[in-house]
Formats: sequence, C-alpha cells, structure tokens
Amino acid sequence: MPAPGETVDPSRVHALDPDQLDAAVNAARESIRAAADLDALAAVRTAHIQGASAPLVLARRELGALPRAERADAGRRHNAARTAVQAAYDARLAELTAERDARVLREERVDVTLPVDRRRRGARHPLTALSDRLADVFVAMGYEVAEGPEVEHDWFNFEALNMAPDHPARSEHDTLYVAPTGAGRVLRTHTSPVQIRSLLNRPLPVYVVCPGRTYRNDTIDATHSPVFGQLEGLAVDRGITMADLRGTLEVFAQALFGAGLSTRLRPSFFPFTEPSAELDVQCFACRGEAARQPCRVCSDEGWIEAGGCGMVDPHVLRAAGVDPTRYSGFAFGMGLERAAMVRHGIREIRDFVDGDVRFSLPFGIED
Ligand SMILES: [Zn+2]
Repeated sequence: MPAPGETVDPSRVHALDPDQLDAAVNAARESIRAAADLDALAAVRTAHIQGASAPLVLARRELGALPRAERADAGRRHNAARTAVQAAYDARLAELTAERDARVLREERVDVTLPVDRRRRGARHPLTALSDRLADVFVAMGYEVAEGPEVEHDWFNFEALNMAPDHPARSEHDTLYVAPTGAGRVLRTHTSPVQIRSLLNRPLPVYVVCPGRTYRNDTIDATHSPVFGQLEGLAVDRGITMADLRGTLEVFAQALFGAGLSTRLRPSFFPFTEPSAELDVQCFACRGEAARQPCRVCSDEGWIEAGGCGMVDPHVLRAAGVDPTRYSGFAFGMGLERAAMVRHGIREIRDFVDGDVRFSLPFGIED
C-alpha cells in the first residue's frame, strides 16, 4: 500500500499486482505455445517480453514508483514472472529452430540420382573429322595448314589458275557469282585459290595442305551438292618431280583407306597442272580380287577414284611470282564427301548437310 502522502497512479501500480503478473505470464506462455514458426515467435517476444508496451516491461518501469517497503516484494514477483516467461520462450525457440533446420535439410536436399544435364552432347561432323585426320597426315610430313576466303576474287579462283575468261567452268551454269554482277567475286569453286594465296604469302619452299568448303551451281540430289568440302595439297620447291608426288599420294591414300593398298595414276587434264593425272586407290573392300566380288564399294572395278593431281603448270607458278626455271611443284586435290561416302558406305550426300546428329554420332564424339 502507498504510504500516506505519496501519490501513486493506481492504474500503473496495478501492473505489478500478483494477479495481473500471473495473467501476463499466462498470456505470454499461451502466445509462445501458439507461435507456429520463428517469425511468429519473434513477434511474441516483442509483444510480451521486450517491446516497449509488453506488460512485463511496463510492470518493471513501475517498480521505481513503488514505496521502498513494497519494492522488494514486487521486484521478486516481477523477476519470477520474467524468468518463467523467458524459460517458456527459450524452450519454444529451441523447438522451432530444430523444426526449421529439419525442414531446410528436407527441402534443399540435392537428389544425386537426377541427371545434372539431360542435353546430349553433339558429335563432330564426319567431314570435319576426316579433314582434320588427313591434314594431320600432311602436317606430320612437314606441311602447314593454309586457309582462304570462301568468297573469292575471280583472279584467284580462275585466272591465276590458268583458266582463261572463256573457260567453261566460269559459266554461270557451274559457278555461283556474288552480287553485284561484274564485281568479279565468286563463291570459290575449289580450294585451289588457297594455293595461289599461299605462294604469294609465304617464302619458298612452300608445303601447304588446304582443307575447306567450296561451292558449285549444282542442284542437290543423292550424289551432288552445291556445297562440298575439298582438301588440296601443294608442294613447291627446287627439284620436285612426279616421283615426289607419287610417294606423297601413296602415304595419303593409305591414311585415307588403309595400309597396304596400291595406287595408280591415270593421265587426265586440269588447267592448272601439266602433266595431270587422276589418282586411283586399290579398293579396300575387294582389292580387285574376283573371289571377293561383286563389290559394292568399287562396282567390281577394283579401284576407287581418290582425287586429281599433277605437276604445277609453269603459268600458275609465274602468276604467283615463282620462277618456273628454278622451282617446280606438285598439287593434288580431293572431294571430302566422296571420300567419306566411299570409306563409310554412305549412300546420300545430302546426309552431310541435313544436320541430323544421328548421322554424325556413329562417327564418334571428340573434343
Ligand atoms: Zn571393290
């Protein structure tokens, strides 16, 4: 009870009344029990334990206003109430924290049995794989790989290669010209312009292998395509002879179709070589033996056409600034699709450009 003469606000003192404290403790415990998660519990803590308007905080403020005689008693009661509520709070906090941790573990579990990436890896295109493999054979013999533009100037594609303006290959029936008309630009019809560029760009002697994409004005069917790959080689040095060509082609043919196969040269004609020849390789399937025929690979010819070749025409050397009295050279070229079709028994040239990965996959996946 207040001492006579002291002015105490009855409503404030009321908060420290034992019944009121018990009610505050019970209300706090009830709310703590009802808190469903850590966020709700934090709100309970503010409302009942720590917030400026929490009953226990208000009660504590009133302690100072009590007469000394009553203060100790009220202080003990308040402490007991505060301790009880804090204990209930700590217990519920531990429960809810354990529940939250268990839920996080469950929800954020990584299922290691699921594939990380369901996309299938693609495969290297069989022409790229073949071209790289053949280029490697020449690199091992000391050649460098040379490349050039696919949109080529008329001079590099025809004129420097000894194909005069009236040469039939230059007609629009064969060649795709790039607009504007008369600008002298074509989609290169062979990789041979790279030979000219190599002779102009590099110091002699020159040993280059030139793989690349080429274009002709052809309608696509089972064996023709307006775009196709070629691989050409050029060697220009002092004292190069047809025997060097023959030996080089032997290595090349065996890399392409297998060891131990014979080669032969048949006389032919190309504007940029003189003499010129067609290279045939012994059929890898039947080797020309009647006992192994009929043969689907060579149609019982016993030989497979593998490309064209010859000694570089002196006009071509001169066009590229090389003195034909001091240097000579040989060149050869082949169509990559045709070689791949023979080698792997592919019937349709269209398969190379359809872009269906099921066609490429059997040729292997490489990095
Ligand atoms: Zn055969």
